[in-house]
Amino acid sequence: MFAVHLLAFYFTKLKEDQIKKVDRYLYQLRLSDDALLDIMARFQAEMAKGLGRDTNPTAAVKMLPSFVRSLPDGSEKGDFLAVDLGGSQFRALRVKVSQDGKQSCQLESQYYPTPPEVLQGSGAELFDYVAGCLLDFMESRNLTHKKLPLGFTFSFPCRQTKLEEGVLLSWTKHFKVRGVQDTDVVSALRKALEKHKASLGIDVDVLALVNDTVGTMMTCGYEDPRCEVGLIIGTGTNACYMEELRHIELVEGDEGRMCVNTEWGAFGDDGALEDVRTEFDRELDQGSLNPGKQLFEKMISSLHLGELVRLILVKMTKEGLLFNGKVSTALCTKGKIEMKHVAAMEKYKEGLSNTKEILTELNLFPSEEDCLAVQHVCTIVSFRSANLCAAALAAILTRLRDNKKALRLRTTVGIDGTLYKAHPQYAKRLHKVVRRLVPTCDVRFLLSTSGSTRGAAMVTAVARRLAERRRRLDAVLAPFRLSPHALQQVKGKMRRELERGLRRDMQGTATVKMLPTYVCGTPDGTERGKFLALDLGGTNFRVLLVKIRSGRRKSVRMYNKIFAIPLEIMQGTGEELFDHIVQCIAEFLEYMGIKGARLPLGFTFSFPCRQASIDKGTLVGWTKGFKATDCEGEDVVDMLREAIKRRNEFDLDIVAVVNDTVGTMMTCGYEDPKCEIGLIAGTGSNVCYMEDMKNIEVVEGNEGKMCINTEWGGFGDNGCIDDIRTEYDKEVDEGSLNPGKQRYEKMTSGMYLGEIVRQIVIDLTTQGLLFRGQISESLRKRGIFETKFLSQIESDRLALLQVRRILQQLGLDGTCEDSIVVKEVCGAVSARAARLCGAGLAALLDKRREDQGVQRLEVTVGVDGTLYKLHPHFSRVLRETVQELAPQCDVTFMLSEDGSGKGAALITAVAKRLRQAGEN
Ligand code: ADP
Ligand code: MG
Repeated sequence: MFAVHLLAFYFTKLKEDQIKKVDRYLYQLRLSDDALLDIMARFQAEMAKGLGRDTNPTAAVKMLPSFVRSLPDGSEKGDFLAVDLGGSQFRALRVKVSQDGKQSCQLESQYYPTPPEVLQGSGAELFDYVAGCLLDFMESRNLTHKKLPLGFTFSFPCRQTKLEEGVLLSWTKHFKVRGVQDTDVVSALRKALEKHKASLGIDVDVLALVNDTVGTMMTCGYEDPRCEVGLIIGTGTNACYMEELRHIELVEGDEGRMCVNTEWGAFGDDGALEDVRTEFDRELDQGSLNPGKQLFEKMISSLHLGELVRLILVKMTKEGLLFNGKVSTALCTKGKIEMKHVAAMEKYKEGLSNTKEILTELNLFPSEEDCLAVQHVCTIVSFRSANLCAAALAAILTRLRDNKKALRLRTTVGIDGTLYKAHPQYAKRLHKVVRRLVPTCDVRFLLSTSGSTRGAAMVTAVARRLAERRRRLDAVLAPFRLSPHALQQVKGKMRRELERGLRRDMQGTATVKMLPTYVCGTPDGTERGKFLALDLGGTNFRVLLVKIRSGRRKSVRMYNKIFAIPLEIMQGTGEELFDHIVQCIAEFLEYMGIKGARLPLGFTFSFPCRQASIDKGTLVGWTKGFKATDCEGEDVVDMLREAIKRRNEFDLDIVAVVNDTVGTMMTCGYEDPKCEIGLIAGTGSNVCYMEDMKNIEVVEGNEGKMCINTEWGGFGDNGCIDDIRTEYDKEVDEGSLNPGKQRYEKMTSGMYLGEIVRQIVIDLTTQGLLFRGQISESLRKRGIFETKFLSQIESDRLALLQVRRILQQLGLDGTCEDSIVVKEVCGAVSARAARLCGAGLAALLDKRREDQGVQRLEVTVGVDGTLYKLHPHFSRVLRETVQELAPQCDVTFMLSEDGSGKGAALITAVAKRLRQAGEN
């Protein structure tokens, strides 16, 4: 009895002594809570550095965006393949994610060896090997006939710009394959698979590149929606977590979250942990494949723990602290102690005998004391690993809590990795330390079962859902993305219509009306005097007083007043409309104090008018938002005169009726004699140009030129561009005031672009691709989507969050993803408008060039219109298209300052001069 006690006492004493000895020897590896809190704070700073745009390039912890924006939502289903490269074993899997009421996830997998010659060979060999294994797997499961989406778990730091792409930053762990760093591993895998596609007909679609941490988080997220951290403690160590997008400066967007792969293994690579690292860490690093890299990982992961223990034992032995100072060759051989040995030696009951066995196998002759000491070395090394992991994890948890502005955080950490799973005490120690370091977090640690690969399938499933959405969105927008060929055709057709409109026999039927304006000359600089101008036909009705000075101090001064034309007048009777106009003139004259003056007046009337002289214009038909009765077929100048008479307050000398395009051309012509074309891209779309009289069959005379108002908005009214009109264009046309009319204008001008967008958005919503499939009240309202919103939404300066806000103001409450889609729709619609407009202009330019018989045409186009002026891309795309389709024309685009007002006055001045000359 006594003997037993004595023995127990002796043993305890012995153990204490050994532990004390090792503790003293390895004091540097034992980290106090204060030290851990300090490391935690350092890691927090590292995270912030990695997330910042300016600090990221030099950050050791890369904080890589994963482009995984959300956890599975449960609607995922289907059959997926996955390959997992980068862990201790390479494997291929098939994962069936099914829905049928409850979520389930079936999995078949096959491990393949990764021979050293593959791990340290060339990139092509590696990916051929991967493709070959996958092929073998597919053949063995009879899957070769199917087209399957594949998730690629690739557990190395990759810079991603989208889910299905990743540029390898550097190899880690035991990998060192040539020619892969700085290249996209997804395309490498695709290329390797492509070879088999031809020979065996297998068709695999690589949809997602997934880091193992992300996969782990996704797998656990499938079970526990609270899971927002993925942690790997295995061959390597790493963690990911859901970060607020607004903090990820390298990714556009402010709203929502994205999973960030921290790549925390590299923590300390910039020297941040030098005081924590010991001589053993340095020695291990020196002998590794990647010296100076992954320093945090080298203190933690299973690939290095055994080696650390070995290095310590060698040194202790050499100093005579173990094995009577006698090392063995085996002990001095790199890699002889592995993680599994460490785990075995630390086992609760068999630990000591395991230790003896393992040491004996290393040709050592361990005493009882030696075994106790070695066991304690293992404990210290693996405990430090758990401590360091805990400190970094605590930093992430604190960040999550701060992001949520919460006092307490309840969260789940999904974990995978052999060290965590197989080591007898590791998990318990880790949990305990984390809870001590962040007492404000209630953490659930959820072990993931084959997390990394199952997660890849999960990410792929989500990706496929998104890809499906992409495919359908592309299908909707494809008809808006006109090919160069289609644009050439538009150009050709426009050319034909321009020619037809000029012919006498076509005058009645041409859809591009080519109306003579009786404006035969541009200003010569001698014009002077005071003029009134009216501008009707755009968004606003304006009355202007224009003072033109001639001679050396040539100038144009203008005073104007804007008047609203109420909808009921725009669409009431003609008499009401003109009475209203005269009422506005009266107010303006009063306001300017010139009621008695009988001023010459120019009337900018921006609707198609058939003119017989400069002061006679018969309205052919209303366009844009106007539809007053009893006007079509009437002379608008007469109607204005009669209204003035009805009022009987003042008299005006109506000299000219002018189209806004002509006014624009004239205004620019006043500055630049080369300006012979006027273009409007505003509420409507139209062009005028100077044509040779000999080409204008409907007007007598062959000398000189006359300005032709093309009224090209009516292009296509005979159905000639119906091949490029979409169902949305038809919808917009049918809902308009003049169905079937102005088909080209309805695809190109401000009044309609927003409406086209609205139609597309309605369709996408009906298809369930936007706004959760819910068509809101506001979306049903015609006209809510004004073209100015296109300009705002498409602005490059606007963050996604602001786009979302604009949509919210329109009553369209969607996610950030929805905003991205709407922005894309706007872009497609406005780009098509600009390209169509460019094709039309190119037709006109080439016609003029050929008419003049010149190789190159140099010409200036005067432009007005808010769409052209304020849309962020319209004018550029228009100019590019013109360049593309009329390469022999050198076109200068000149913005007109208030063309329609000033131009009308200039034309009036010219007409008055010519009239007086005629009278004399
Ligand atoms: P007009 O009506 O004489 O053509 P504008 O050239 O000013 O006058 O064009 C007004 C039209 O321009 C509006 O009807 C609207 O469709 C469009 N628009 C208004 N604001 C913007 C904007 N910010 N970006 C693009 N288009 C706009
Ligand atoms: Mg205008």
